[in-house]
Amino acid sequence: MYEINFEIPAFLLSLLCYIYCLTAKHRQYILPKGFKNKLANQHFVFLLMLVTNILSAISSVVGVYLTEATFTGVAFWQYLFHAFYFVFHATLSVSFTLYIINVTSTSINWKKIYYILFAIPYVISEIIVLTNSFTGWAFYMDDNLIYHRGPLMILLYAIGGLYVALGFFFFFKNKKAISKVDSIAVAFFIGIATLGIIIQAVKSSFLVELFSESLACLVIMIVLEEKSGHIDLTTGLLNRIAFTDDNRRLINTKQKYGLVLLKIKELDKITNRFGGREIDALLINIASYLVKESGVVEVYCYRRDGYAVLYKELNYDKATDFMNKALERFNNEWKIGSLELKADIITTLVKVPEDIKSIEELENLISSGYTKAKTGSYYVSIEEVKEITNSGKYEEALRKAITEKKLMLKYQPIWSTSEAKTVSAEALLRVDSDELRNISPEVYIPIAEKSGLIKDIGLFVFEEVCKFLCDERIKNSNIKYVELNLSVYQFMYNDLIDSFEEIRKRYNVDASKINLEITETAATLDEDVISNTLKEFQKLGYTLSLDDFGTGYSNLMRMTESNYQNIKIDKSILWKVCKEEKGDEMLKDLMSFVRTLNAEIIQEGVETKEQLDKVISCGCDYIQGFYFSAPIKDVDFIKYINNEQNN
Ligand code: C2E
Ligand code: MG
Ligand code: MG
Repeated sequence: MYEINFEIPAFLLSLLCYIYCLTAKHRQYILPKGFKNKLANQHFVFLLMLVTNILSAISSVVGVYLTEATFTGVAFWQYLFHAFYFVFHATLSVSFTLYIINVTSTSINWKKIYYILFAIPYVISEIIVLTNSFTGWAFYMDDNLIYHRGPLMILLYAIGGLYVALGFFFFFKNKKAISKVDSIAVAFFIGIATLGIIIQAVKSSFLVELFSESLACLVIMIVLEEKSGHIDLTTGLLNRIAFTDDNRRLINTKQKYGLVLLKIKELDKITNRFGGREIDALLINIASYLVKESGVVEVYCYRRDGYAVLYKELNYDKATDFMNKALERFNNEWKIGSLELKADIITTLVKVPEDIKSIEELENLISSGYTKAKTGSYYVSIEEVKEITNSGKYEEALRKAITEKKLMLKYQPIWSTSEAKTVSAEALLRVDSDELRNISPEVYIPIAEKSGLIKDIGLFVFEEVCKFLCDERIKNSNIKYVELNLSVYQFMYNDLIDSFEEIRKRYNVDASKINLEITETAATLDEDVISNTLKEFQKLGYTLSLDDFGTGYSNLMRMTESNYQNIKIDKSILWKVCKEEKGDEMLKDLMSFVRTLNAEIIQEGVETKEQLDKVISCGCDYIQGFYFSAPIKDVDFIKYINNEQNN
């Protein structure tokens, strides 16, 4: 005799869950197109599980009822419902595993062939069940209409067991794809469903399996499926929480996918002009356009003006196509009631994991304002976005370091070939903060220049150098002057010379002790301003050096006009000629050319004895490089020159 007391609650429970899911109008139950995409959708598989539970329960209850019925032809109906039961029952274990595979993102990049392999055992079990009326391999009814298990029933159980085991395997393998709460729910789901199967396997008349599975589904629904908190209230798209959750899951399981980011430009301005209600309508229109045009269901509104479309594809063709279409669409107006609104967007394609390795990196990226000074809608490459993001980050860090007084200088010795000793030093900026300690000034100086922070930095460097020159130990050494880098951007400030002079006089430092290194940049600055300022500095007694000679921007006219005391050949030139066959000659020619300008030559970047010998033989006057010393703190520099003098 069968105990069906559990089948009816199982049926009701699953039915209720099903109705709830579909009537709650959760966005996740808008399912993707295409059967393969549906199978790769967690919510579709959840619905599939509920439907199988419901149908299994119905066929089980009817089947059991029929075992007691006595009407004519009952044998056929009994047989039919037993068969139904097995058809649905076999689907249960496979959908159960498919659910776990989806939740843990195991299947995101599954090709068709994986699905086919995955389905083979299932298909075998269905063939056994469906052909059972001819074979009786799964079960048969004897003359007294008593049900018996057939010889292959054990295989059906084994296949069910195989799927459950696979479910376990994928769960443990990719557990870190899901949050702790979710994984507890999945563990409970697996545990309780397995318990039901075991109880029923041991005591076959005790039909609890479906009930335990329905219960497990309820837990899953409450924890993993009930995602109303994942929906953006205005647009109905998935929200920021869903965005972070889904991406964390995919990144943690090392999946390959593409994200198209779309940012509406100046939404605040549009809102101020047209009013909140109109803008809500605009956003709803945009959202439904994105869903329709992208052809995927993973469309997010992670911020009122920020949207993302997730493409779980190994190539990025679809994502690129969509992006181009969107750019075109946003060139036209959106009709909102009687209004025609225009919104511009900035789009970018993020390839994971090539472009982004962690969820933090992604969060950083979407929270940064990656805007260029450009009108209309446009595309920015991820490289540009990163550059803009970083410069924002570095600017922030630099600003903080300035207020927290984390700037400092290091000094690199400059060695005279004729005197065979250190005669000067170059002051180089360092930032002693966690964010910038290991970042080269080559990265943040340009940011300081563009953000205006260079003004304060420049004054700090100048004052530090003056202090350094006041040190008695420096005064009494062979150090004739100190070189410091002056950015041409500092020339934009009219009070540059006055502020330098004020500091210099305060420390009572002779101007001839200060050498200003200028780099000729492609900056669009007024040439006259630059050359007039330089002349002014020279009149006051400062000397000048032309830095980074040979890197491309040198303006020969200006070089001959201004009286540079030193010309510093860039380290990259030395390193390049060291690799070339006729390198020695090239360097010699370059140096003799520099000499025609009446300047002395400093070679930067000398790291080895060979390089040293080479530049000396080419006629270089001064040498700066790691061969002698890297840039060092002021106290270490004093020790360095003391050592040199004593040896
Ligand atoms: P720069 O003025 O050409 O300074 C020389 C750079 O070459 C320094 O890098 C120095 O550490 C490095 N260097 C010198 N010899 C060697 C060597 O033998 N091997 C190697 N690998 N490197 C060597 P640093 O300190 O990273 O500075 C980079 C650039 O940042 C400077 O190039 C300069 O353009 C800028 N900078 C540094 N400090 C300041 C500053 O206070 N103000 C301004 N405006 N720019 C600065
Ligand atoms: Mg320099
Ligand atoms: Mg240089």
